[in-house]
Amino acid sequence: MENKNLIENKEIVNKYRQLLRVSKWSREKGDITVIRKAFEKAVDAHSQMRRKSGEPYIYHPIAVARIAAEEIGLGTTSIVCALLHDVVEDTDVTLDDIRQEFGEKEANIIDGLTKISGVYDTNSPQAENFRKMLLTMANDVRVILIKLCDRLHNMRTLEHMSDKGQLKIASETNFIYAPLAHRLGLYAIKTELEDLSLKYTQPTLYQNLKQKLNATKEQRSRYIRSFIKPIKVELEELGVKYEIKGRPKSIYSIYSKMVNKQLEFEDVYDLFAIRITLDSEPEDEKMDCWNVYSIITSIFKPNPERLRDWISIPKSNGYESLHTTVMGPKGQWVEVQIRSTRMDTIAEKGYAAHWKYKQNENSKETAENLDNWLNQIREIIENQESNALDFLDEFKMNLYAKEVFAFTPKGLLKKLPKGATSLDFAFDIHTEIGAKCLGAKVNGKLVPLSYEIQNGDQIEILTSAKQKPNKDWLSFVKTSKAKNKIKQSLKDDKRIVASIGKEALERKMKNAGFEYNTQNLNKLVQFFNLEDELELNFRIGSGTLDKEKIKLQKILIETKSKHKPGTRRQENSPSDIKSSKELIIGDASINFDYLLSNCCNPIPGDQVVGFITVGGEVKIHQTNCKNAQNLMSKYGYRIIKARWANQENIEETFEATLKISGIDSLGLVSKVTDIISKQLKVNMKSISFESLDGTFIGNLKVIVSDKAHLEQLMKELSSIDQYLKVSRAALELE
Ligand code: MN
Repeated sequence: MENKNLIENKEIVNKYRQLLRVSKWSREKGDITVIRKAFEKAVDAHSQMRRKSGEPYIYHPIAVARIAAEEIGLGTTSIVCALLHDVVEDTDVTLDDIRQEFGEKEANIIDGLTKISGVYDTNSPQAENFRKMLLTMANDVRVILIKLCDRLHNMRTLEHMSDKGQLKIASETNFIYAPLAHRLGLYAIKTELEDLSLKYTQPTLYQNLKQKLNATKEQRSRYIRSFIKPIKVELEELGVKYEIKGRPKSIYSIYSKMVNKQLEFEDVYDLFAIRITLDSEPEDEKMDCWNVYSIITSIFKPNPERLRDWISIPKSNGYESLHTTVMGPKGQWVEVQIRSTRMDTIAEKGYAAHWKYKQNENSKETAENLDNWLNQIREIIENQESNALDFLDEFKMNLYAKEVFAFTPKGLLKKLPKGATSLDFAFDIHTEIGAKCLGAKVNGKLVPLSYEIQNGDQIEILTSAKQKPNKDWLSFVKTSKAKNKIKQSLKDDKRIVASIGKEALERKMKNAGFEYNTQNLNKLVQFFNLEDELELNFRIGSGTLDKEKIKLQKILIETKSKHKPGTRRQENSPSDIKSSKELIIGDASINFDYLLSNCCNPIPGDQVVGFITVGGEVKIHQTNCKNAQNLMSKYGYRIIKARWANQENIEETFEATLKISGIDSLGLVSKVTDIISKQLKVNMKSISFESLDGTFIGNLKVIVSDKAHLEQLMKELSSIDQYLKVSRAALELE
């Protein structure tokens, strides 16, 4: 025991020294005293705690501080806060202690970090927690940066968590933290978070891709070397100091290409990319990048549609780089990224790196852009009217969106998410201008409110004092800001009508002997399948819901369960109630009602997860289902473990949908149906084919007993001919 402690103490000191080493460049004289103080405080506070892995707990805050310093380039205040990030949450140390010993700024950041953690113990919906997190971020962006470091370290050490915890944290990471890292310009961290998340949500697939990538590594490097060779010769002549690197694709990016475009590994693994980093003087960096661009495009033909110039107009997260895609040897497309060392640091380390370069004019501008972006977020959050879930969806959409830029009549540059309309532009200028917007003139021509902005448009907004936001606007605006402002205005109108409805309903309930309380109102809202109380009152107030026809007695008193517990049904076919032997949910001591969700149609053999619905049933999804991941990250506390029972006992059958595509040839359909019904004796529920110019796509609904059965069918089908592609169909999200 003594011995073990001694070894651990040595290791703690070791890790602390490494932290000091990597934070050297950002420290100023005297900073070391306060870092040491924070370190000692954290060691002391966590001295009795251990991580799930059995290691001393203090390893974690030190690692988080190290990521903050080394991978994001944050300074002393952040290092101090990272070291102390869990003490208020988990130990006797209070915020007041922190305030007295370290200062107001530090206490505020740690307060923010404490508010967003604790997500795992409470039953409050995660969406609400995210909102809180973003609110605190609005006060000090360091809160979110340290939170990202914390999450990254937890993801790196996730193997010690329980399966259920792994799934939840991994989905949450993919759902919100990776997009946040992306939006803050932390590309390296974003990629790692995505890869790690995939590793835990889809372990088999992840390992499989990793293996395949390793196997093709040598072949890919050889190609890159041959591609680079002629470029190097010319670059030497130019006389700029440069570095040139092949850029491996992340496992996650390969995975999402395969899923989104329905491609096989073989079709995506050889997408090549290289990056050229130039060591230029600040005043030459743009010119140097363009010089290198012209060298490369004179050796290899560029695809003119793939030129991306984020040097002249950086992304609003600060990203600067020049991208082009050229046709390399053997007819392969190769993406080339060209940027200066400064631009590269910013691309890797994001927001914080701007401060390192703040004397540089270019960086000053991007830092300002970034501040504008943070201001916008602040505005979205503060004007929040819609519920937390809507907010989160919208916010997330804005995180990933690509950008377009347009000018005001006076030449002011505005950046908006791709797909934004002239109405979004109006709201971006000012809420009042948005609310009174009649139409717009784009490059001198009159366009409707729903006009989709193109890069470089010059937009003049036309307004009228009589104009008012209406519901249709919501169907085409893209930005959260416009959406929120419109909703807010509609809600104000709606509230007036709803207050009339409320009075009427209250009277009716009172007369019938019912209390006007949340419980009863919820029943009514659920019965009529409405969004909320406001909607209920509004419908009554406006007369769309006839108050006289509401049968209070029936709705409020008769609430019986619809079917026996311990059964399953396929969604949309409630008649199909069967025994629950096939699936084990939770610790198997309780029989849950469950249904197999129809977004991913899980079948035995799939990795599955249960999700408790509002009605108390359990809905079974595949763990890789987009809907499920969305749900898990929003309501993690409703996740319940589920696995298929011993497969031999299963006599049930399951529905699965297959997508097949290929080249149309005579007799193909009969070959397909032959294999299904005769050779494999699979029941086919429906089949549809559509042919187009010699190719076809088809949808097959089949009844199988489990995954192995389905996979055998898929294999047989794909052997019909070499161009035939068979994949399992999944419903798109919403
Ligand atoms: Mn932590």
